[in-house]
Amino acid sequence: MQADGSGDAAAPATVTEVRNERTDTRGERAPRSERKLSQLAGCYADPHAFNAALEQGDPVIYSVSSLEPASGDGDLHIGLGMVMPGKVGAEYHLTRGHLHSWREAAEIYIGLTGNGLMLLEGQDGADAAVPLTSNSIVYVPGHTAHRTVNIGTEPLTYLGIYPAKAGHDYAAIAQNNFRQVVIEQGGQPTVLQRKDWLETLRSNLELSVKE
Ligand code: MN
Repeated sequence: MQADGSGDAAAPATVTEVRNERTDTRGERAPRSERKLSQLAGCYADPHAFNAALEQGDPVIYSVSSLEPASGDGDLHIGLGMVMPGKVGAEYHLTRGHLHSWREAAEIYIGLTGNGLMLLEGQDGADAAVPLTSNSIVYVPGHTAHRTVNIGTEPLTYLGIYPAKAGHDYAAIAQNNFRQVVIEQGGQPTVLQRKDWLETLRSNLELSVKE
């Protein structure tokens, strides 16, 4: 901890200053893209909670710095992700999630800081929610949609390493969203089926309307 209070454990690593020997170009600071709350409409299960959160402001929910040294056959790209802590209603902050355009492409996630879960959903209906924490490694097989969720109180940071040719397909997820949601229940992160959680939200809404 530095005297000014910065430099805490939550400070993410940076992916930068990589020299690409093959093309003999100096890697530049990885371009960073940010996703604000307003850009995540439809990702969270509860639209009322989403609108209420937006009325309070439009914070950055996550960012990804992508390092793409080369894009040929056999090359790799690296993404440094950071998801901020917090919730929309009872649902923890999340990334949009995606499939790879090249569906066969797998990916390795390496947790750096924070406490997260990865939602993994195969096209065969096989769903999983696996821990993504400091020094943990998650293998995302091909044909598997993946989303990261911050269930902790500090920024969740991680590296994703994937074939340069993988590509990102967000549209397929946007249609149906993930089948699982991560909800705080009784103070604990709980993985529920989206359809069950939506049913609970509907019931709560009907009760509040009757009151
Ligand atoms: Mn990916």
